[in-house]
Formats: sequence, C-alpha cells, structure tokens
Amino acid sequence: MVIVMAPEAGQQDIDAIVELVGTAGGNAFVSRGVSRTIIGLVGDIEQFSALNLRGMPGVADVMRVSTPYKLVSRDNHPDRSTVRVGGVPIGPDTVTLIAGPCAVETPQQTLEAAEMAKAAGATLLRGGAYKPRTSPYAFQGLGEAGLRILADVREATGLPVVTEVVDAHDVDLVASYADMLQVGTRNAQNFALLQAVGGAGKPVMLKRGMNATIEEWLMAAEYIAQRGNLDIVLCERGIRTFETATRNTLDVSAVPVAQRLSHLPVIIDPSHSGGRRDLVLPLTRAAIAVGADGVIVDVHPHPEQALCDGPQALVNGDLRELARIMRQFPPLLGRTVATANPAASGDLLMSN
Ligand code: PEP
Ligand code: MN
Repeated sequence: MVIVMAPEAGQQDIDAIVELVGTAGGNAFVSRGVSRTIIGLVGDIEQFSALNLRGMPGVADVMRVSTPYKLVSRDNHPDRSTVRVGGVPIGPDTVTLIAGPCAVETPQQTLEAAEMAKAAGATLLRGGAYKPRTSPYAFQGLGEAGLRILADVREATGLPVVTEVVDAHDVDLVASYADMLQVGTRNAQNFALLQAVGGAGKPVMLKRGMNATIEEWLMAAEYIAQRGNLDIVLCERGIRTFETATRNTLDVSAVPVAQRLSHLPVIIDPSHSGGRRDLVLPLTRAAIAVGADGVIVDVHPHPEQALCDGPQALVNGDLRELARIMRQFPPLLGRTVATANPAASGDLLMSN
C-alpha cells in the first residue's frame, strides 16, 4: 500500500502516519520527492484498511499496489493454469468446446443436443437442471430429475457434464452428479454460494456478473479459491451496456485482461452474450481469435419448442460451420481442440 501526501503536508502529519502504521504491526518507509512525500507500507493490508488512512491530515491518496485477490492473481503464479474436467483440459494450450442445451427438458432432447454438441467437436456437455430465471413464472428447470438425465446422457455419450447450481443448499447434490459446477451471472456475487462451491471438490465455471468489473469478477473467484479450490474457469458472458440490439455486450477485452491479471483459464459464452443464433458463430470466431481458452454454446434439436433461450440455440444446420471453426481456428493460435484423450484430437470433428 502506498500513501501519497499532499504538497502542504507537514512533518507532524508524516510522523503521525508512521506511528499509526507501527501500532498496526506494519512498517512505513518514507521517501521525500521534490514536491511530495510518499510513504510505502509493508504489512497486513487488511489491518491498514481498518486505519482510515485516507482521512488522516495531509493525506492526498492511498493506493493498493498489490492485487486484492491473492490466490487467483498471476503475481505469484506466472504460469497460466489448466483445469481438468473429467479428463478434458481447459487451459492455455487448447480450445475447449462446451455445448448443450440451455436447460435439460427431456431425456430425448438432452441426448439429441449432446449428440449435436459432440458432432461439432464439443468434449464437455452443458445443460441446466436448475435455471436462474428472471421471471418466477418461467421454467425453473427439472431439478434432481434433470441431474439424473444429465448423468444418463454422460453415460451414453461419454461427455462430462457442466451444470449450474443456484443455491448453496443444493451444492452437494449437484456436485454428486456434475463434473463441473457452474455459477451463473445472477449469482456471481452470491458469496455464500461461492464459498459453498469452493468447498465442493469439483471444478467451477464462474460466469462474470453482468454488471461486474473484472476486479469484482476476480474477487468472486477468490472466494472460491479461499475455500481451497483453485480449479476455477472464468467465463465472460457479456455485460449490460446501453446497447439493446444484443442481449448483452460481449466484452472481448475481458479475456486478455483477465488472463494477464489471473492465472485461471478464461472462456467465452457467445450464446448468452449475443442472445441471437446469427451472432453465435461470429462471436465464437472472435472468442478463439482473442485467445479464449474455450467456448460454451447453446445447441437445441428444436429451438422453437425450447423452454429456455431457444432464439440463441444453434441448430443442426449450424454444426458443420461450428465444427469447421473448431478445426481451423485453434491451430492459427497455436492451440489444439481439447479432448479427454489427446491422441483422439480431431476424431470427433465432422470432415469437410
Ligand atoms: C446459462 O449458461 O444457462 C446461464 C443462465 O447463463 P448466464 O448465467 O450467463 O446468464
Ligand atoms: Mn440460458
């Protein structure tokens, strides 16, 4: 932490700060410039925060120099991490495609969507059994029955399952079926839920809050990490802006920014950002080009009948193009498509 003193600050102001920092168990190093004095603090930053240094006489500014998120920060962990989900890597060497229906509706619909996902090159299956819906009248998901469907479809297709948990009380139940727990944008600062998934022993995909800064997003990840779970994947899914032509505004800059600040993998959700089928493939290309470690997309065999987010679901006719993107784009970035078994890389992709 660094304190910048105002030009008019006197020696007694500086002495008062040095003494106060000492009583909090820290050390203060005073450096006098031509017009200003700067005091560098070493010690417990949380203790310093409680001192109200900003309110002391002669203080112009107080700045944190180290990041407030220690465990997920890249400062002490320069190598970018790879998170494994049921054997499938998500990390800097690969591009991982996660696909499936927005919501689990029926066994048949989920199986068909999983087969679509696989045909496009996906190696992880997404699908919500618990849906955080804006309207209390909208379909809320099948709950545990949906989790059982996901487990059956995993058995049938071999695809590990990513599924959302919306309530801290459900974490153990969802974790008993899921290969990766998803925390959605509406729960991105539900700290009790973040702590609960941190203790669940399963990898977590943390969506960015639709109104969260990148720092707030990383602080949310820190809640999970603090409970001993560093298997966290960050997911940029679009933020709220003044623009109404798209469901959310995809913040592509967030990918390289978050990757520079944190060692955690960062993926993009082009379905929930664009909110429109015609935008999903262009945004998928953008995601891979900007260096995302993966992409998570909605697919549905009959989007016109979907109980959730039909307008943004890719249909069968889009799969060949998605498969082509997955085959051609990652190598341009020096990456391969992520598979559970690297030797099988490319086998799942449709040929031209
Ligand atoms: C989802 O992926 O199904 C979902 C609800 O996403 P988000 O939390 O990003 O809206
Ligand atoms: Mn959705």
